[in-house]
Amino acid sequence: MAGTATTAVLDRAGLDALVAALVADGRTVVGPTVRDGAIVLAELSGAGQLPYGWGVELDAGRYRLVRRDDDAAFAHSGGPQSWKAFLHPERERLWSAERAADGTLTVRADRAEAPSYAFLGVRPCDLRAIAVQDRVLASGHYPDSGYRERRRRAFLIAAECTEPAGTCFCVSMGSGPAVDDGYDLALTEVVSAAGHRFLVRTGSAEGERILTRLPRLPADAETTALASAAVRRAAERMGRAMPPVDLRALMGASLEAERWDDVAARCLTCGNCTLVCPTCFCTTTEEVTDLTGDHTERWQRWDSCFDLDFSYVHGGPVRASARSRYRQWLTHKLSTWYDQFGSPGCVGCGRCIAWCPAGIDITEEVAAFRAESSTPREEAPQ
Ligand code: SF4
Ligand code: SF4
Repeated sequence: MAGTATTAVLDRAGLDALVAALVADGRTVVGPTVRDGAIVLAELSGAGQLPYGWGVELDAGRYRLVRRDDDAAFAHSGGPQSWKAFLHPERERLWSAERAADGTLTVRADRAEAPSYAFLGVRPCDLRAIAVQDRVLASGHYPDSGYRERRRRAFLIAAECTEPAGTCFCVSMGSGPAVDDGYDLALTEVVSAAGHRFLVRTGSAEGERILTRLPRLPADAETTALASAAVRRAAERMGRAMPPVDLRALMGASLEAERWDDVAARCLTCGNCTLVCPTCFCTTTEEVTDLTGDHTERWQRWDSCFDLDFSYVHGGPVRASARSRYRQWLTHKLSTWYDQFGSPGCVGCGRCIAWCPAGIDITEEVAAFRAESSTPREEAPQ
């Protein structure tokens, strides 16, 4: 709804009222909260459960909660989960079948009813990742009906980034730290001597409808200027950057690079990077039968291209080596994803860097491929 957005200011009581209004509407509100030494995404019954006063320190293979010297609620980057845990759950029953005593077979579509989610605090990179998953799972010839329904019902409240982490590189992927579209409401948090508040702007008719129910103030010049400055400063403080190259061409030209051996020697093929990645979408299905053989269920669960079974065809896996599996993941993300979906499969959230037990850094790997591609190769002796 470009051009018709309403802007206003919410204080903390206004944020409380926002969560209360969404809960009153029957929505399942999900947002960041502190649990088990991390900022995780979980169902919230009130805005008081937000991680007020907590920040994070991130580096390759490292994640630490830190106390802030202010009470900011959204001054942290993405944690171990992304919103795909809710829109595209890790495990989901698709159907079940029952055989009665007379041999009659009954098959039931068994997907749980889609909750009406409200996501509070969606980062710009994660908003872009949802748009990427929409293209993969909610459109095309074979949409995932469960995803599409959860997505259709979801209400998205973005939070612009004011505190990037050491692993963030959204600026170089063009996906942050400001949000441009794809949200119902967008918040920018401002903490200053004048108080703790949130500049809010609407991005949909539903966002407008919710905002009119909240105690709010008109957007004033000081709050608007501070909000813009905070996002601008965040853009200048990115922890990392993807090298400015044509990623699609570089990865396509690097299929036989020596660097694959180097990264394969470090990669544990654990698949953590695919699980935490907000755009990775691969699943497999499993049939589960009870001991009587009268009841069976089909489950869909996340899969990973790092798993040997992922490329198993009769006789063995197509990608048996760590080199081939890491290459599959990176070249798909940064090159062939363009061919399939018209965008990169990376939004610069940095999760795969922080949650890789070997500290493998996607930006560092791309820099190494670029260096190798510009280094003349020695000719093999004739
Ligand atoms: S790159 Fe890191 S997180 Fe990904 S599979 Fe290898 S060791 Fe695991
Ligand atoms: S590849 Fe890594 S940095 Fe890129 S979106 Fe996935 S987890 Fe985030």
